[in-house]
Amino acid sequence: MSSEISRAEVVVDLAAIRHNVRLLADRAAGAAVMAVVKADGYGHGAVPVGKAALDAGATWLGACSLAEGLALREAGITAPVFTWLDAPNVDFTPGIAADLDLSVSSADELARVAAAAERLGKRARVHLKIDTGLSRSGCPAYAWPALVKAATAEPGVEVVAVWSHLACADEPGHPSIDLQAQRFQVAYHVAREAGLNPLRHIANSAATLTRPDLHFDLVRPGIAVYGLNPVPQQENLRPAMTFRSQVVLTKRIDAGESVSYGHTWTASRDTTLALVSAGYADGVPRTLSGRMDVWLDGKRRPVAGRVCMDQLVVDCGDDEPAAGSEVVLFGAGAAGEPTAREWADTIGTIDYEIVTGMYRPRVQRRYEGA
Ligand SMILES: *Cc1c(COP(=O)(O)O)cnc(C)c1O
Repeated sequence: MSSEISRAEVVVDLAAIRHNVRLLADRAAGAAVMAVVKADGYGHGAVPVGKAALDAGATWLGACSLAEGLALREAGITAPVFTWLDAPNVDFTPGIAADLDLSVSSADELARVAAAAERLGKRARVHLKIDTGLSRSGCPAYAWPALVKAATAEPGVEVVAVWSHLACADEPGHPSIDLQAQRFQVAYHVAREAGLNPLRHIANSAATLTRPDLHFDLVRPGIAVYGLNPVPQQENLRPAMTFRSQVVLTKRIDAGESVSYGHTWTASRDTTLALVSAGYADGVPRTLSGRMDVWLDGKRRPVAGRVCMDQLVVDCGDDEPAAGSEVVLFGAGAAGEPTAREWADTIGTIDYEIVTGMYRPRVQRRYEGA
């Protein structure tokens, strides 16, 4: 554990982040890499991850909200930063003042960006978003020619890019990918015919890894930056996050004794229990109760009974780990320890949700490999 006493901590390996970004930059050779650091860097810390990604060859950062983009600027990051989703009444002024690139999906949004730019006496850098079939944000095809025309006529904005987002890139071969690519091409031609010469970007991690034809000028990987693989094929990515805690105390119990709330687990033999100071308030999903192992003293060992708010109990058989022994809840998996992916598969979600859920005030975050 770190020298500061912590009950549970998240350790982020910045060398793994740099490795993953180099791999992605290599796969996307010819395109620039925008490392997506929204949601506080998928729970890993947007600023340290963003700086590591820029060191390793990314030249853009992507964030969701204006506030997230501004936090990168406040940390001294000067690289292009793109933000794409805010409340409908957000004030774009500080974003334009801080040279953030802004997404625009509608004529109304364009007008609000242009008005903010005018107040500042500065041109806003905008990326026009076409909805090619995800049906979330983005301009529908029927409104696209009018949006492009309005953008070209607007002196307060500079159209930097045309962009879109894919629905099913993590299922290579899914027919929606080609359909979205075709619609993207049509939207791009409309922009070209209107006299624009914008960049193009549509590829998330999955498309960066599997669809070189969709790299265009810029790719926007998120999850793969953190070493988690969104596609079925094997990739040489390194998960950057380890979640760990420690043994607080051990004790023997007799066969027939039950463990934790609800007594859902009963010892079938005399055994040693280890109490671990991590629970659902620290990011261990309670739905993993009875369905998870931890890595302790070089072995996987099952959690006995329910995960509690602040603690859980591990069945150690006849082994007796010392108080203070490290317990890995999940990690890269290289030694055999559980992974975020394994947690996600067990409880029916995706590893994205596991790692983004790890930003919690009482869980210390520490960096290695700076
Ligand atoms: C989150 C996000 C990404 C990154 O997606 P991954 O699947 O994590 O690679 C890219 N673009 C946009 C618009 C996003 O919201």
